[in-house]
Amino acid sequence: MKFFHHKDVRQLLLNFNVQKVIHLNYSKMKNIIKLLLIICLLPGPDCLAQSKDSLMVAAIIKEATENSQLQILADELFNGIGPRLVGSPKMQQAHDWALAKYSTWGIPARNEKWGEWRSWERGITHIDMVAPWIKSLEGTQLAWSPSTGGKSITAELIIIPDLADSMAYLQWFPNVKGKFVMISMKQPTGRPDYNWEEFGTKESVEKMKKDRTAQTDAWRKRISKTGLTNKELALALEKAGAVGIVGSLWSAGFGVNKIFGANTTKIPTVDIALEDYGLLYRLIEAGKNPKISVRADSKDLGMAPTYNTVAEIKGTEKPDEYVMLSAHFDSWDGATGATDNGTGTIVMLEAMRILKLFYPNPKRTILVGHWGSEEQGLNGSRGFVEDHPEIIKNMQALFNQDNGTGRVVTLGGAGFLHSYEYLSRWLTKVPATYKQALETRFPGSPAGGGSDNASFVAAGVPAFSLSSNSWLYGSYTWHTNRDTYDKVVFDDVRNNAILTAILVYMACEDPNRTSREKIVLPANSRTGEPGKWPEQRSPTRKGGVD
Ligand SMILES: [Zn+2]
Repeated sequence: MKFFHHKDVRQLLLNFNVQKVIHLNYSKMKNIIKLLLIICLLPGPDCLAQSKDSLMVAAIIKEATENSQLQILADELFNGIGPRLVGSPKMQQAHDWALAKYSTWGIPARNEKWGEWRSWERGITHIDMVAPWIKSLEGTQLAWSPSTGGKSITAELIIIPDLADSMAYLQWFPNVKGKFVMISMKQPTGRPDYNWEEFGTKESVEKMKKDRTAQTDAWRKRISKTGLTNKELALALEKAGAVGIVGSLWSAGFGVNKIFGANTTKIPTVDIALEDYGLLYRLIEAGKNPKISVRADSKDLGMAPTYNTVAEIKGTEKPDEYVMLSAHFDSWDGATGATDNGTGTIVMLEAMRILKLFYPNPKRTILVGHWGSEEQGLNGSRGFVEDHPEIIKNMQALFNQDNGTGRVVTLGGAGFLHSYEYLSRWLTKVPATYKQALETRFPGSPAGGGSDNASFVAAGVPAFSLSSNSWLYGSYTWHTNRDTYDKVVFDDVRNNAILTAILVYMACEDPNRTSREKIVLPANSRTGEPGKWPEQRSPTRKGGVD
């Protein structure tokens, strides 16, 4: 297709769509005939349909490769806006940004309200060790944590001790008054296992793992002896007069911690990086009485409405049947949500942009859902499923991506008995380069959770997860303080945008509706009870208030 200008291909595709070849001028007609002749040299009765598919695929690839918008989208969203915590002003900013993007591409889009959430805005945070020597500590205030009330709080620290039982802890609680309480274990090593395994002796690796397991078990036991859940413990410490909670949730890689939400309601909760947390802990053990100073200027903004951004390219032949692109838009707040789920988000944006360009009059309606709260329990997508039964009933297929920046390497049939028939047929149109190492699993099994495809599968929709290769997602970027722009592998993301656009196109064009027939699920191996299809669940419509 190299000798055709991209605009000619686009025009040709547009004309295929509206079947107005007759109105073309002579020179374009000549080009089209030339192109069709070349393609039709391939034998086969479906010459025209096949040529159309091949042209479309070639156009998608050309646009995605030569005019990729992925870096611009990533830069604007991850760097320009930043993290997208549900209910936060930044989440709202992201929804508005997406609307503006779709508008520049001529795609109608809307923000659909599905609930409300406690709105919290991060402010400036400083965490410093001020005794026995001075060091700026690497730490982060947890999401929804109370602020320090416009001032710095300076105090000593105390470690949760190892006591006999909950009674003993009750008696100990008054000791936390006026102190920061350290609630996490001191990690024995800041080196990830792969580093030990590369350089350590077999004996030292085994010893390290054995010691760490014993220490981890003992710490878990220590906390469980308080008789309180993590949340109850934080509240009990707050009630007993602690000035703040300090934790460290190491993510098993160099420099990575997971950053979630606070359990306290009046005092700040911060996470401190493994290295600095270990330093404080060891100083306490050595009797050096370290002191830290914390300032956190976050703001509570009351309740805020929460949305999904939904955009649509209306179908021409079967406008009431739908093919949906899907990726959650929200993130945790410890970094900028670049791979969770910034990359899934820009894949869907880019695929929509390209589809609109070359396939503006699809057979079925194309929808995209940028979900507003996946991280707290698939709330945005569950809201959409509950609020749009007419769309759910008529959904041909849905493609969700939400596990990082890597190339899609797994596509399963989600427990739909005949998924092999249509998915593998659609996949035949994807050139080999874009499905390298792609493993299909049929009929697969229905997702019970994990990401938003599960909300749709539960409602019987053939909803599929485009599952990426790892790039050490689980330890290095997923919910961590290092989920940032620099971790994105744009070649892989572009690959995924191309794959998604082709699958969506094929699902739209399929002459048949997809079968929703479910497999008989295997019996539960423990109880022997028959396997059950996951149940549709309602979202939390009023969040962050319990
Ligand atoms: Zn995610």
